[in-house]
Amino acid sequence: MTNTVVIGAGVAGLAVTRCLRDNGVEAIALDENAEVGHSWASRYDNLRLNSVRWLSHMPGQPMPKRYGRWVGRDDLVEYVNSYAAPIRDQVRTGVKVLRVERGSPWRVVTDQGDFEAAHVVVATGLYGKPVIPDWPGRDDYRGELLHAADYRRTEPFEGKRVLVVGPGVSGVDIAVDLLSRRTGELVVAVRTPPNFLPRELYNIPLQGLSVTNRHAPTAVQDLGGRLIQWLSVGDLGDTPLGRPTEGMFSRLKRTGVNPAVDDGVFVPAVRAGRVGVVDEVVELYDRGVVTKSGRQVEADAVIAATGYRTGLADVLGQLGVLDDRGVPPQYGKENQHWADQGLHFVGFASPLTGHLREIGLIARKTAKRIKRAPVPGASRVVSTP
Ligand SMILES: Cc1cc2nc3c(=O)[nH]c(=O)nc-3n(C[C@H](O)[C@H](O)[C@H](O)COP(=O)(O)OP(=O)(O)OC[C@H]3O[C@@H](n4cnc5c(N)ncnc54)[C@H](O)[C@@H]3O)c2cc1C
Repeated sequence: MTNTVVIGAGVAGLAVTRCLRDNGVEAIALDENAEVGHSWASRYDNLRLNSVRWLSHMPGQPMPKRYGRWVGRDDLVEYVNSYAAPIRDQVRTGVKVLRVERGSPWRVVTDQGDFEAAHVVVATGLYGKPVIPDWPGRDDYRGELLHAADYRRTEPFEGKRVLVVGPGVSGVDIAVDLLSRRTGELVVAVRTPPNFLPRELYNIPLQGLSVTNRHAPTAVQDLGGRLIQWLSVGDLGDTPLGRPTEGMFSRLKRTGVNPAVDDGVFVPAVRAGRVGVVDEVVELYDRGVVTKSGRQVEADAVIAATGYRTGLADVLGQLGVLDDRGVPPQYGKENQHWADQGLHFVGFASPLTGHLREIGLIARKTAKRIKRAPVPGASRVVSTP
């Protein structure tokens, strides 16, 4: 008997659907895209995971060793597809969920008809909706303005002056990609001095250390992070990026922002002057950006690595389950409160121990919770337009 509707067939949705199946619970996963794992397939060509292969796989299926230590995009897409294979008949693609309505059973309203289910698992991801700030002058800018989510490869930027806004994980990844494979000037706009971690130090993947220290107090984790940062990139106070005032774990806890990853390319390039640094972008004009200090910076292209929203306001907004960043509760009493009523969330926490690793853990836990819960009724399609 099917009793669960999973919204989203990215890694989180697939993981929970497979875990449910392994627990003998039938589930249907709905995804608005035509293919599973669409988000990875649409990411940039040279993307490599920052988390290590053996801490990034989904429950029940390790990634093949031939993918190497730092898995590339195409291998990841292959992995996601092979992970989806055993549950293909449970995944319905091209179905957009418009709204989830509270009740017993829950009603999932989609553009292909409605579903009723005892349990709903929301697995639509933290990065559903790329956000570009509503800078004044956007319409006057004559160069190319794009979000980091739409960046694919270096070629279109060959020989151009590119400004990357935001030295977070995506901004630094893209800057490194641009630095390694093209000519032209590169400038990064910085609002808050960033923290950095390397993928590995002395050949040891740092994700393993984060996992080992995951229960330490935040202040202790911050101290460890500062030490590793100092060992890997030195004192950032002597660079135009500036020395971060907040520890990387504290910042992640407060804002959800992860430290950027630098394997010895980005910060040295800043020190060598191969990457220019300017302050916060506040406005655009026909030839570039204006920064908070009033400086005009010309740019042929502006890549806004300015973050994402979940895009869940329409789907869940009326339930009062989202925080002010639009994120549902992934842990704690509030999460338990919703789970008790049959509404579950997978994929909405991105700790330094690894987002994918956390997805796997929460998918397993959610499936067990649903299996143990009483089953008021099977899910069914109640109307088809
Ligand atoms: C550039 C980048 C690099 C990353 N690198 C790493 C890394 O190295 N290591 C790591 O651990 N994590 C990494 N992450 C974070 C995380 O692992 C990924 O974002 C991962 O894809 C999250 O999986 P997900 O299933 O939660 O979300 P997604 O992959 O975004 O999947 C969500 C799915 O839900 C569907 N959906 C959304 N809304 C609806 C709707 N209303 N109706 C129907 N379907 C809907 C979407 O079509 C999508 O297929 C990275 C993230 C980004 C953006």
